[in-house]
Parts: sequence; structure tokens; C-alpha cells
Amino acid sequence: METGISPKLEYNLAGGLALTIRERDFRQLCEGLADSGYRYACALPFRSLTENPLGFPFLKGKGLENLRNCPIQIVHLEEAWNPTNEENIAKAVIAGLLHRKKLFGGIGEFPPPQVWDGLFSSKVTCDGLFEQLYTKIEGVKVISHTFEVDFPSDRLLVEINPGIELSQSEILDISIQRNIGLVFDPSHLLASDKIISVAGEPTKPYKGEWERQFIAFSDQVRVVDINPPSLADEDDLFEGKGSLKELAQAAKEAGKVEFLRVEIPIPIKWQIPGLPSHQEAFDFLQAIGQRLIEG
Ligand SMILES: [Zn+2]
Repeated sequence: METGISPKLEYNLAGGLALTIRERDFRQLCEGLADSGYRYACALPFRSLTENPLGFPFLKGKGLENLRNCPIQIVHLEEAWNPTNEENIAKAVIAGLLHRKKLFGGIGEFPPPQVWDGLFSSKVTCDGLFEQLYTKIEGVKVISHTFEVDFPSDRLLVEINPGIELSQSEILDISIQRNIGLVFDPSHLLASDKIISVAGEPTKPYKGEWERQFIAFSDQVRVVDINPPSLADEDDLFEGKGSLKELAQAAKEAGKVEFLRVEIPIPIKWQIPGLPSHQEAFDFLQAIGQRLIEG
């Protein structure tokens, strides 16, 4: 019989994006997380890791040196979110706002987090930094939202999401044939028409749609995202119950999930650079981490 592995706690640093701009905030973010039980993280091409964090040429940064004595290990990488063409943070934030306004018309739908685009450096800088992170961090894996990328299968994971436009069985087939691990996120479930029930599938009742989909993919899933579909799910997890707690349990039982990647963003009021309120965020994330790990 195969012995299963226990998933390790990871944090997606994008959840504290305002703290990834300046080097000292980034250090604080990593130290706070490490003290709260998170030894692994997912990084994006953050400004604090560039040679020029705020985009002012006269304020030089240490670049990747910032990761040298970092108390948490970067195990996964993701691309920046819609970076603009501006290096300077003030110009980039404005460009981000204008860009989104053009794309979405600024009315109707719930507005996307537009300011975030400008918290990244320019697209060119982000692409260069991504490449460096991928090359210099040994064994780090890229988390992609599509299979249409050029990374070797041992350095790539694909996050299941509706935008992938494949059915459950197609995703499973590609994942197995190309030996690419999957990331399961309960907030990005496939539409029900992409899920074909297999003949002879046991008719046991599922607690929820996430459970049905997780079980279908579980042999290929290497990372489970703890990304609460609603605030109520987050509150439940904080109290050690509910669907995310069950998902963490299912991930342990699957025996092949390497990481539980917490994607709960730090509330904005606790992210303001320079304010001493970050500790409340770390206390909160520590409690969440404990709920996920305890049996
Ligand atoms: Zn996710």
C-alpha cells in the first residue's frame, strides 16, 4: 500500500500585495508568516524583488538578494496580474485604473481590483523577474492557468479553472499523459456541463460540488488552494468547521497533496505599509493555519 504524504502549509504572498512593494515590508511579511507557521510560499514578480522597487531610478533595491535569508521558502511562482507599461508606482497605478476603465467600461459588473495592476512593475520588468525567479530558485514550480505553456512537466502545475475550457476527463487525461500535477481551488470549480458522471460511479451523496470535483481529480492534485468562496466559509474555517476544513481533511486523506496554499487575502486595513497593525493579520492567519493542520 502506498503511504500518503501530509500537505504542508503555504501562503500565497499575493494576499499581502501592498506589503510586497517595499523591501522592508516584504521582509516583515515573510517573517510574520514564518512565525505564524507558514514555511512555504507562492511568489509573483513583486516590486520588492526588483532592482528598482518603486520605479524611481535613484532608489536602488537589492533585488533577489532579498530572498537570501528569507525565513520562508518560495515553492511556487505565478505571473503578475495585468502589469502596466509603467515602472514608476504612481504612474503605474494611474495606468492600471485607466486600463481597467477601458477594458470594462467602468460600469455594471463588480469592479475588478484595478489598483493592484499598478502595484507591480512594468510588464517587461515582471517578465524578466519571473524568468530570474524560475531560474534561480531550485525546484520552484510555475502555477499556470492553462496547459498551453512551455515549462517542463516537473516544473509546472496547472490550476483547474473554468477558463481552461476543457472537461473534467480531458483535464485528467492531459494531466496523466504529460505528468503534470494539478492545483484545486474550491473558488474556481468547473461548470457542471464540463463534469460528466462516469457510468457505474457510486451514487453516494456528496456534501457539496467541490467535494465531487475534488474526488474526481484527487489522484492528480498536488496543491489545494484554501480560497474561501464566501466570507461565511472563511468564518467557518476560523472556527474549525465547514467546507474548507473538510477540503483540508480530504486533501490529507488523498495522500498526494503536497501543499495547502492559503489564498485568504490580508484585509486592506492590516496591509497598510508602515503601520504596526500587521500582527493582527498574522494572528488571524496563524489561527487559520492551525485549523487546517489539526486533525
Ligand atoms: Zn487559486
